[in-house]
Amino acid sequence: MQKSISLLGSTGSIGRQTLDVAKNLHIRVAALAAGHASARLEEQARAFRPALVAVFDEAGARDLSARLRDMPVRVVSGEEGLAEAATFEEAECVVTAVVGTVGLQPTLAAVGAGKRIALANKETLVCAGELVMKKARERGAEIVPVDSEHSAIFQCLAAGGKAARKIILTASGGPFRGMTRAQLSHVTKEEALRHPSWRMGPKVTVDSATMMNKGLELIEAMHLFSMPPEDIDIVVHPQSIIHSMVAFEDNSVLAQLSHPDMRLPIQYALTYPERKESLTAPLDLSEIGALTFEKPDEETFGCLKLAKKAAREGGTACAVLNAANEEAVGLFLSGRISFLEIEEYVAGALETIRNISSPSLVDILGADAAAREYVRARARAR
Ligand code: MG
Repeated sequence: MQKSISLLGSTGSIGRQTLDVAKNLHIRVAALAAGHASARLEEQARAFRPALVAVFDEAGARDLSARLRDMPVRVVSGEEGLAEAATFEEAECVVTAVVGTVGLQPTLAAVGAGKRIALANKETLVCAGELVMKKARERGAEIVPVDSEHSAIFQCLAAGGKAARKIILTASGGPFRGMTRAQLSHVTKEEALRHPSWRMGPKVTVDSATMMNKGLELIEAMHLFSMPPEDIDIVVHPQSIIHSMVAFEDNSVLAQLSHPDMRLPIQYALTYPERKESLTAPLDLSEIGALTFEKPDEETFGCLKLAKKAAREGGTACAVLNAANEEAVGLFLSGRISFLEIEEYVAGALETIRNISSPSLVDILGADAAAREYVRARARAR
């Protein structure tokens, strides 16, 4: 079990749930990192007494440093501060719970330092999966997924051995499952944020509503488990009890089940290969009654189709998909564009921005920036 962690993105949904797990398992929190200084971050620093706190925003870092004057903690800022938290020597494991491409550089830094990475930031693998996995192999850094589906696949593969034939990713279908395009054209932000089974942050909740989340997860799975996209199936399972499955050569299928509770995959990434008592309630299937499955509707939820296309194309296509989506979701959350425009903007970015094969980190960051600029310009011209 990991004895000490550095937690990047401590004030978000996964970050807060990671602290619940750390407290329950008596794991030391050596470093905390967040984008901005907040009352919550100060509270976390006082409760967990880390040696280092990184705040991306410089003014926020100065402010927090003043407020924590009475504590033996060093407050650092900016990208350098984030990198320092990602490579902090007192931490054995780095939990990357930041949302978006901003997680890429610190994850690469942590991989470079040979840490175990409890990876909750799927955007890192979506935009630069080949680079990150290659570097992890070179440095012997272990990447253990926190995303519930990937944690399930990781557990099934560990139990079933090497002869995996197919990954079966489960999807809840989100709040708009069963709706038509006409109905989707006037859904609101509030409706998109009302997820039927999972408690998550706003970005991934909107991704879940468009089903882009499953597309991003397919790309994430492709890199984590070296599986081509055509060997990854998606099945809609609204109860969110089976978190994903693996089919083996002999057509035997292994699945991992639990209540939908992110604290469990977070904990597994920290205790693997051991298991410990958790905060998750025991599963009583007779109480749940039925587990159902259906095919995803890619015609209605076009983001899924776009993600599969980008996965097949490779190169910088996934970085463009991911950045355009992140930017468009931000515009949707601020009320500037409609729900279906998220998909239109991502499709437009993929059509417009030239794909570069075997990209370097510079190519990836360039594609990311170009996709964001495309989405912003299109929204301005709206
Ligand atoms: Mg997930």
